[in-house]
Amino acid sequence: MNNTDKSNSTAISLKTKSILNQGEVALVGSGPGDAELLTIRAMRFIEQAEVAIYDRLVSEEILELLPENCERFYVGKEQAKHCVPQDRINEILAEQAKLNKKVLRLKGGDPFIFGRGGEEAEYLLQHGVSCHVCPGITAASGCTTYSGIPLTHRGVAQGCTFITGHLQNDGQLNLPWQSLCSETQTVVFYMGINTLPTIAKKLVEHGRDIDTPAALIHKGTQPEQQTYRGTIGNLADLVKKHDIKPPTLIVIGDVVNQLTEQQLSKPGFLDAKDYIQIQDIKSA
Ligand code: SAH
Repeated sequence: MNNTDKSNSTAISLKTKSILNQGEVALVGSGPGDAELLTIRAMRFIEQAEVAIYDRLVSEEILELLPENCERFYVGKEQAKHCVPQDRINEILAEQAKLNKKVLRLKGGDPFIFGRGGEEAEYLLQHGVSCHVCPGITAASGCTTYSGIPLTHRGVAQGCTFITGHLQNDGQLNLPWQSLCSETQTVVFYMGINTLPTIAKKLVEHGRDIDTPAALIHKGTQPEQQTYRGTIGNLADLVKKHDIKPPTLIVIGDVVNQLTEQQLSKPGFLDAKDYIQIQDIKSA
């Protein structure tokens, strides 16, 4: 087989691998918003969908890729108010599959990272419905990278933790605070914008330096992306000052200012001119 034959056969297998059959569900992560961050597998399932069930976090740009005749169910959630309760979402997925349709369940980011995708898959399997599972770029990865923040960096951050800042059912935020306080660890909070004052207070109480660099990334990877940089000590003020709303990610750690300390002129683009200016200021 020569090289051209090889690349042709790869192209063919890419076209035929992700087949969505009647009566099956594809549980697909759509990433944090930019349609260019969809995987090829996600795109294949989108193209085949006869019915799509999607969340608030799935961007308009991605919804535009659905086939014209695809039926749509919006089951989005806005903060605490559930537009459609999770139990009902599970039922809709199974009902649509039992109508023998090709069902696409589109979720923001990755379906298995704070996405309740595991519960949906479990329900479908219990009800005899098979499902394809397709990862997506999770917000922590997409939003930081598009803001010029490396989640790990040699000599600065040896690891990173993704954690939820959402209150538990008892109204508390009981997190393993001690384990989030190593200086060389990046910590990313999902759903933490409303509990930010508590998050900041607890981190400092458990030993994280109040001056640790921190960032808030609103609508990451989308044209409206805003990245606000500060420190643990002033993040809550930034939220008030700029009236920052969900979806927003909180990033804690020295990596926040590793490559740039300013808003990028274009999400996902590090301009060499800005970098040189920062280095000049730092060394002056
Ligand atoms: N399954 C998703 C996360 C759902 S939880 C994933 O893997 O990304 C919802 C939280 O994710 C939001 O409250 C916010 O903290 C974060 N989030 C998701 N998309 C985001 C985006 N484009 N910009 C900023 N934060 C985002």
